[in-house]
Parts: sequence; C-alpha cells; structure tokens
Amino acid sequence: MRIGYGYDVHRLKEGRLLVLGGVEIPFAKGLAGHSDADVLLHAICDALLGACALGDIGQHFPDTDQHYAGADSRGLLEKVVRLVQEEGYAIVNMDATVVADNPKLAPHISQMRQNIAEDLQVDITQVSVKATTSEGMGFEGKQEGMSARAVVLLTSVQL
Ligand code: MG
Repeated sequence: MRIGYGYDVHRLKEGRLLVLGGVEIPFAKGLAGHSDADVLLHAICDALLGACALGDIGQHFPDTDQHYAGADSRGLLEKVVRLVQEEGYAIVNMDATVVADNPKLAPHISQMRQNIAEDLQVDITQVSVKATTSEGMGFEGKQEGMSARAVVLLTSVQL
C-alpha cells in the first residue's frame, strides 16, 4: 500500500473560465494558469505522483512547454493514472477538499466525482470531493484564489 498527498493553489482572474474537477462552473472569475488551471485535478495528480514517488506535476508537465498551454487537466490526470498503472499500482480511494469562498460548489460536486472516477478508472464510491470556505480569511477568503488538497491510497497489483 502507498499513500500520496497533493496540494495546489491558483489565482482567480477575470476573463478566465472556472474549471474544477473537469466541470465548467459559471462565475465572474476563473483560475489563472498555463493549463486550464483545474486546481482540484492538479492536487489529485500530485497525490498520485507522490504515492509513487514520481515527483510532481510541474516536472511531468512543465509550464514552459507550449504543448500544455490551455491544456485540459483531465488529459493530464489520465496520463498520471497511466504512470501509476505502469508502476504496478491500482487506486483504492481518493479524498479531496477544495477551499473556495465563492461560488457555491455543492451543486457541482456530483459531476466532479463522476469525471474524476472516469479519469481514475474507478467506481464513484472510491472518489470523494468536499468543499469548504475559509470564512473570509486568507487568499481563499478574499477570493484572490482557490486551493485544493487531495490524498490517495494505492495498492499493488499483479502486472
Ligand atoms: Mg496547478
């Protein structure tokens, strides 16, 4: 068994789409970044890479590489899942929390879980996505940005 942890932050900016867990969420601002800046999927990628001691998302998909400009982070997650499989592991479960004071994420959680379960090639019962606010404190509270944290558990499989 291997455990992995991932953390990511992106700045909120006007004129950007807000994409979380592969879901486009209507909002006045979106997350800024080289890719689609899906902070939740990035935290999950880092948790998976961490569990395999394979470095971090920045090493695998450098933001200096034009190939990843505006990239759909679901494609990045699929590539990371392939690496996990190549290492001989299967995903037991994934649990994540997004910290954002606005907009309300509750209506979108179910679709995020479906997308992530598809990308991780697991059942939706193995995928947990939670949302919390930071009660007006810090960068999430001031709506300057959003953060996400994720943990994953992997088990060895016979290759
Ligand atoms: Mg990121």
